[in-house]
Amino acid sequence: MQPVSYVRAADVNEAVGTVAADPGGAFLAGGTTEVDLLRLGVTRPDLLVDVNDLPLTELEDRPDGSLRIGAMARMSDVARAPSVLARYPGMSEALLLGASEQLRNMASMGGNLCQRVRCAYFRDGVSDCNKRAPGSGCAAMDGANRGHAILGTSSKCIATHPSDVAVALVALDAVVHTVGPSGTRSIAIDDFYLLPGNTPEREHPLEHGELITAIDVPPLDLQSLYLKFRDRESYEFALVSVFAAMRVADGNVADVRLALGGVGTKPWRARRAEARLAGAPATVESFAAAAEEELRDAEPRQFNGFKVEFAKRAIVRGLTQVMGRT
Ligand code: SF4
Repeated sequence: MQPVSYVRAADVNEAVGTVAADPGGAFLAGGTTEVDLLRLGVTRPDLLVDVNDLPLTELEDRPDGSLRIGAMARMSDVARAPSVLARYPGMSEALLLGASEQLRNMASMGGNLCQRVRCAYFRDGVSDCNKRAPGSGCAAMDGANRGHAILGTSSKCIATHPSDVAVALVALDAVVHTVGPSGTRSIAIDDFYLLPGNTPEREHPLEHGELITAIDVPPLDLQSLYLKFRDRESYEFALVSVFAAMRVADGNVADVRLALGGVGTKPWRARRAEARLAGAPATVESFAAAAEEELRDAEPRQFNGFKVEFAKRAIVRGLTQVMGRT
């Protein structure tokens, strides 16, 4: 691990200014992924600006019915907040299934949204990896790709996005607020995640020194849930996950939100499935047809073809179970 300078920022502007002034600078929040990557030599900042003292931990019910989550709110605190449990149970479940208790107590919401991929070739620090070393190739393409993406892939990168709560937030149309060298911005979360295309090293539209300050979650008048399927019950990332929210009226789907994890290069809003379900009978047959539609253009590699059928079944199960909650 190379030497790295460390400072604690006292306010947002100081944090932003300090990182922006140093091309090798980076923010340090909970550190639950970032410190791993430093030790592995995958990332090599020369300056870490610790943002843990910043007053960004609020959980605020706003007058318009939305929920504001400070970027430094811990995953545990958000998962157990009464308004999250009451209004967004699927988001609470995504947080609780996202990491061990110890990690949830440290990891911040803003850091969670920015966590890097779990692709072993990215993290080993030496394999060909366009995300870590642009232009070097992608060892996963013809390698151990069982856990990799089948949606949103490119010829440059097929890594899945690892966050669980981001899947919920994408379905909930959350908005990410930032402060950067150019001022403040509000970014729809679906735009916050970039497809790999020809530039897999660029995962977010953030400029250097731009800091997430808060996440706004619009009101939701639907019951919701999050299901996560993985190789073992805990401390594991999703093979497939699904966030589902739905309202049924007179036997038909009156409103639905659907997003997938573990299968996309970004948290995957299942818009095709949502469109197919709008107004359709709330039946297993409709759910299966919507799942079929969503996975129509899936592009599996040698070892992850099972995810296509797996994701379809997860969608059907998620919608069926959330209808039961309704
Ligand atoms: Fe790197 Fe992406 Fe290929 Fe993994 S899938 S080796 S992160 S380029």
